[in-house]
Amino acid sequence: MWATEALRRGNRMLAAIDTVKNAAPDMVVTTEVCGCSWTDHGECALLTSNRRVDREATFELMAAMALAHAKQGADIVSPTAMIDGTVRAVRDYLNQNGMPDVGVNPNLAIHTSLYGPFKTLMGTNPQRGDRRGMQLEPGRADREVLLQADRWLDEGADALTLQPVLTCTDLLVRLRDHVRVPLVAYSTSGEYAALIALGEQGMVEYHAGLLRAGADLILTYAAEQVARALEAAR
Ligand SMILES: [Zn+2]
Repeated sequence: MWATEALRRGNRMLAAIDTVKNAAPDMVVTTEVCGCSWTDHGECALLTSNRRVDREATFELMAAMALAHAKQGADIVSPTAMIDGTVRAVRDYLNQNGMPDVGVNPNLAIHTSLYGPFKTLMGTNPQRGDRRGMQLEPGRADREVLLQADRWLDEGADALTLQPVLTCTDLLVRLRDHVRVPLVAYSTSGEYAALIALGEQGMVEYHAGLLRAGADLILTYAAEQVARALEAAR
């Protein structure tokens, strides 16, 4: 199987989980489960010899990655490739291996330019195309996000992550009205570049707005600044 580094003992992801859990044992750790940081072609999925998505091999990889993260101490795993079947594959494999308490929190990714800095940093720009076919189209996402949310819940999702949020707050509100599982708002790397211009107080107000719109949790690059600002205001 390709992307073997993704499953190597002590790889960067597993070492990071270990480091965080040692430094802050009570902190909830959630990990990305996806191929794109580990494949030489930068695609989220494994490919067949004629460059099509190899669904079976991809499911196997995602399931094995999720179990490796869970065994290392991850509390929640997030399958981020938008490939139907991956959430079921991950959920079943965790259950079969005695990890029913580890949450599965898949992604609802809307196509946006706001993933840019992350993709460059992680080297996950695919060699061909732009992954748009695997993300929801912004112009139709008002309906598609609800359909995809239902699919993930059918496959066994415990929570859902929406990204980006700066340009998709309306979708957060729709999801809040539609589902009862926890919602995670993922404020992406490109958003952070914009949030810097808002300043610390503006960042706090932005994140408070996400909570008001329906987020239960926020994943954000501004976490440290917001935490400092909240601490100072006490
Ligand atoms: Zn990916």
